Amino acid sequence: MNLANCIECGAVMVDNPTKLCPNCIREEELAEDKVSEYLRENNRKASLDEIAKETGVKVKVIFRMLKRGRLESSGVEISYPCETCGAPIFEGRLCDNCSQSIAKQIKHDDWQAPEKREAAKKDEKMYTKDLFRRK
Ligand SMILES: [Zn+2]
Ligand SMILES: [Zn+2]
Repeated sequence: MNLANCIECGAVMVDNPTKLCPNCIREEELAEDKVSEYLRENNRKASLDEIAKETGVKVKVIFRMLKRGRLESSGVEISYPCETCGAPIFEGRLCDNCSQSIAKQIKHDDWQAPEKREAAKKDEKMYTKDLFRRK
């Protein structure tokens, strides 16, 4: 039996995939209910900040729910900030602009680093997939 610290309150607990202690799991379930209810009443479209402000649930908790796919099933669209510039995005970690400029930058370095070329190809593929999924 592995012990770990709860990522939310730091309590020592038996390690589990959620990385949360039983108390925090319960809190998070309550938070999920609150957020789902809010989204049901608000056209299923809102930004992370808005939801946090309206429900009193912490942004990082909502973000975690989002990343776990807990909110997808209800057909909600929640925007969250791009990791680089903070523009609202719905998928992946970067907005279109940032993923494009990163891809360009990698291409620019192509001639000197073959391994970067591979990475760029992979990035482009991911980017295309993202575009595709957004449709
Ligand atoms: Zn906890
Ligand atoms: Zn960006």
